[in-house]
Order: sequence, then structure tokens, then C-alpha cells
Amino acid sequence: MNIIKTRLHCPYCGKSFDLELEERTYEDDLLEECPMCGNSIEIHLQLDQEGKVSKAEVHQLDGDADE
Ligand SMILES: [Zn+2]
Repeated sequence: MNIIKTRLHCPYCGKSFDLELEERTYEDDLLEECPMCGNSIEIHLQLDQEGKVSKAEVHQLDGDADE
């Protein structure tokens, strides 16, 4: 089975971590917990034709536009 692996940066604590997914569990929007701080991270992935991650965006869940 093809495993998708990518490195993400937590939008809460700023630390990086590796995310691994089985290809068949891939969805456009993912919800993962940061392994460092435990906050829920919304992840948007784009895959290229080989099934590798071409773009990964992370967002905080609370949707608060205040910066
Ligand atoms: Zn974190």
C-alpha cells in the first residue's frame, strides 16, 4: 500500500512533525492532532499524479480571523 508522507508545521506551537497516511484514507480535508501540543489541526492536501504531496496547508480549527 502506498503511504503518503509529508512534513507539516503546527499552526499552534510552530513545531514540525511528520504525517503519514495510507493512500486510501486520503481526503481533501483532514483533521489531525498535533503530536507536540495536542491541538486539532485542519489539513488540506494536494497530491500530484504520483500520489505524492505537492502542497500541504495547515489551519487552526477555531476559524477566528483575528490575528
Ligand atoms: Zn502543535
